[in-house]
Amino acid sequence: MKLVTFSHDGSTRIGVAEGDEVVDLAASAPELPTEMVAFLRAGESALEAARAAVAAGGARLPRVQVHLESPILRPPKILAIGVNYGDHIEEAKEGGMKIPEYPVLFNKQSTSAHPPFDPFHLPRASSALDYEGELAVVIGKPCRHVPRDRAHEVIAGYTVANDVTVRDWQLRTPTFTIGKSFDTHCPMGPWILTPDEFGDPHTHDLKTWVNGELRQSSNTKHLVFDCFHLIEHLSTAFTLEVGDVISTGTPGGVGIAMKPPSFLVEGDVVRVAIEGLGEIENSVVAEPGDTVRIG
Ligand code: MG
Repeated sequence: MKLVTFSHDGSTRIGVAEGDEVVDLAASAPELPTEMVAFLRAGESALEAARAAVAAGGARLPRVQVHLESPILRPPKILAIGVNYGDHIEEAKEGGMKIPEYPVLFNKQSTSAHPPFDPFHLPRASSALDYEGELAVVIGKPCRHVPRDRAHEVIAGYTVANDVTVRDWQLRTPTFTIGKSFDTHCPMGPWILTPDEFGDPHTHDLKTWVNGELRQSSNTKHLVFDCFHLIEHLSTAFTLEVGDVISTGTPGGVGIAMKPPSFLVEGDVVRVAIEGLGEIENSVVAEPGDTVRIG
């Protein structure tokens, strides 16, 4: 199933994408939670009820009439992994990075979660804006100390993410967090694809285009630390919660590694596609002018 969070007629709720339509679960299975984390927390019985609602026809809306949101509106955690593809390591070495012995973990603040087709911001504070197309894992069960061979049990599904990065802010301090966490800088979606439909997560082409020009082209088989290894590693240290997102890292071809470096400018359009999963597309807009906000 392709689980979506969408807004329509003044309310935000969840559904299942099917072709050009969205099955509105609030209308066709009103007993289910209408928010994604609560829905996932309800477990297999909720998934079965959603499948039954889809099979029965369900109340459907044309996809063009709804606004797709980030599948998880505010993930409890957005965990991201750096330098996790062989070819990206090669280009990052030139920037002083080394082949990692352990997964390189950083957080994107949960406030950076952003819809799959909405524009993201060129910040007022920087012009070194870059893209990173990534496969992301969504956690479906609270868990700790998950052995690698049981990691599949805690995965609710997979989604496409763009780990949008402000390079100068990322690299001027030892930790990446602030340069990875600007508002709007984690577009994801368009849905959470359940594992039964995605299959082996480590066999899928991943591509990123900027204004139609192919910039990244790799396959998830090149992940250094794969999805299951990451879950084992992270859950050794802390509890993974329902709705946590793990963005697994980006392959080679980011803008900063181009010669000369090429950063995103206003009006650019970035598309990230993962074979058998889906694609997201976001344009770049200037961060709105006077953004001082207190209260
Ligand atoms: Mg990344």
